[in-house]
Amino acid sequence: MSTTKSPRTTNAHTVERLEPDTVMVADELRCQGLPSVPCPAAVLLDGEIRRRGARTVRGPLRTGPWRAGPERAALGSAAFLRATDGTTGPGVVGLGAAAARGDRGPASARAALHAWLEVARPREVLLAAPRSFCAGVDRAVEIVERALEQRGGPIHVRKQIVHNSHVVAELEGRGAVFVEELDAVPDGATVVFSAHGVSPAVRTEAERRGLDVIDATCPLVGKVHHEARRFADRGDTIVLVGHAGHEEVEGTMGEAPDRTMLVETPEDVARLEVADPDKVSYLTQTTLAADETAEVIDALRTRFPMLRGPGSDDICYATTNRQEALRAIALDADLVLVVGSTNSSNSLRLVELSERVGTPAHLIDDAADIRPHWLTGVTTIGLTAGASAPHHLVEAVVGALGGLGPIGVSEHETTRETVHFTLPLSVRTP
Ligand code: SF4
Repeated sequence: MSTTKSPRTTNAHTVERLEPDTVMVADELRCQGLPSVPCPAAVLLDGEIRRRGARTVRGPLRTGPWRAGPERAALGSAAFLRATDGTTGPGVVGLGAAAARGDRGPASARAALHAWLEVARPREVLLAAPRSFCAGVDRAVEIVERALEQRGGPIHVRKQIVHNSHVVAELEGRGAVFVEELDAVPDGATVVFSAHGVSPAVRTEAERRGLDVIDATCPLVGKVHHEARRFADRGDTIVLVGHAGHEEVEGTMGEAPDRTMLVETPEDVARLEVADPDKVSYLTQTTLAADETAEVIDALRTRFPMLRGPGSDDICYATTNRQEALRAIALDADLVLVVGSTNSSNSLRLVELSERVGTPAHLIDDAADIRPHWLTGVTTIGLTAGASAPHHLVEAVVGALGGLGPIGVSEHETTRETVHFTLPLSVRTP
């Protein structure tokens, strides 16, 4: 999750009224007698200034001869770079910031501007495809949106509807209230279950409280729950391959808590103690790394030759496709950026995959998280996004990188996704 907050915006007339420790970051440079110059990398500069301890506001910044008055006492730093924005052809972009004297702002602004100028250069961006929203996330977000339209806010949602801070903040702004547990939901209110699913105990509690439940559990998570019930009914010990503490894992384990054991690694498999080694089944979390999970399943098969598994892979199509798409570009990139939040399992797996093939990778919530030193010596950037990260965040990263110099953008599609899940009946009608 980003450690920085969104900047306030301002306009050219307020720069002289900057508060202490506040820096104005230019989203446009206005030069007397010249056309104004856009600053697509403003978000990068903004993020770096805030990490250096100053607050920021955004707006157009005047450059060139300073007017008499308060602005004379301001620090103004601006740079102009030749750039291609990909749509309008070659042009000029700028980087600019201004801060009042006598506080932390000027030093932060100067240092941040210098850091970005050091790494300004032409670059290639390789876009992995598929990336961003999967069908399960699309459905879950639409369920909350429709519930808000139908019933008006507040609509309570148990846990984050999907693991992305931007999605959550946007829905909060529209009236969604995210809660950790049902005790924070008023009796009789509407509650949405997140895409990661819930245990039967949560369903029972919702029923007991008379809550109006809308279930946004991804159907592919629902399939794993169904398998857990089937395996438990035939008396098997269920070994679930997954990450402790993840909401999906908690929900799946809740189907048969007395007979489900969680493993993450082949070493965990060696430590398992089961009632009957001939009656063991396995399931997996939907968002694991396919190659690592195969190792764990191999270890299970070696330990329990009669092991039985699900009818089809539990790792979902979206997770697999995003991993394969990234694998196709990672080796050609000097650096990989994965757009996603820190609690997004499939986004974290993408970072790990890139590192495993030898390309350094960073998880970013948005463009503001990019650090200048990551780009030192980097000419080719691989870019992807986890299944819970909206497409527009990737577009914003491309736009910001274009503010550091000309960029060539190419998309590398390994497969086309056509999966679509229907909405629950209760939100299908307007
Ligand atoms: Fe469903 Fe897979 Fe998307 Fe999770 S990542 S919501 S399991 S499609």
